[in-house]
Amino acid sequence: MNQLRTVSQIIEPQTAIEGAGVRLLRSIAPRVSNNFDPFLLFDHFAFNDPLEGPIRGFPMHPHRGIETVTYMLEGATHHRDSLGNTDLIGPGDVQWMSAGRGILHEEMPRRGPSGNIYGFQLWVNLPSHLKMSEPRYRGVTAATIPTYEKNGVRIRIVAGTVDGVSGPIRDIAAAPLYMDVELDPGIEWLFPIPSEHTLIAYIFQGEGVFANETVSAIKMVKFNDGDHITVKTENHPVRFMLMAGAPFKEPIVPYGPFVMNTIEEIQQTLRELRDGTFIKE
Ligand code: MN
Repeated sequence: MNQLRTVSQIIEPQTAIEGAGVRLLRSIAPRVSNNFDPFLLFDHFAFNDPLEGPIRGFPMHPHRGIETVTYMLEGATHHRDSLGNTDLIGPGDVQWMSAGRGILHEEMPRRGPSGNIYGFQLWVNLPSHLKMSEPRYRGVTAATIPTYEKNGVRIRIVAGTVDGVSGPIRDIAAAPLYMDVELDPGIEWLFPIPSEHTLIAYIFQGEGVFANETVSAIKMVKFNDGDHITVKTENHPVRFMLMAGAPFKEPIVPYGPFVMNTIEEIQQTLRELRDGTFIKE
């Protein structure tokens, strides 16, 4: 390892309103510029009852051409979809849903015992040859997500491998790494990442030094190319989601909950929704 990944961009999450009036913190959203390829969107749900008012959720809506990944830390999300799945994504659980050619689903947040709802949704792109593939749903319970723990470093591994320990989500086109990383104060952590993969960290608790930049929660950091990252903590712990993936380097056309490669494919999607052929048996 000889090329440290330096920080290329620090992103301040912005408040956005989505679904039926859900307020959330958005760091990235689908854009034609596709600067975070293969990642498209990162949303952070953080509600505290009664301060944030009623939580209305995301009633039935379609997706095509992407994968949506929900990771809950507090509270839960109740999910229903056109494949017939009904599931409650609880604290520590992950749902990795590949919309492929089309899915309709409902995502309704539920408060935990503390009254809080806290979680993340990540959108990962699909390459052109998989955009119209069979939809696929994977629910992963907290108990089946391995925790790697060593010398003040704790990592829950959803996808990817740390010191030979692999997360349960495999066979994803973007070859993603997706992990929840916590460092105690006074730690220096070095981690290898494939050089050409896009690398992002979402710092949601504490403060750490990423390469040479001190970053405090809540921020997203994008890194330049390189074969490893370093994260140091001083007087505070830090906790962040770390995500890496292989870029597809294809043009994208995002339109609401759909991300395709051409405008014609978006028009086709809208026609199918209108004439009732969006969901295929
Ligand atoms: Mn959705």
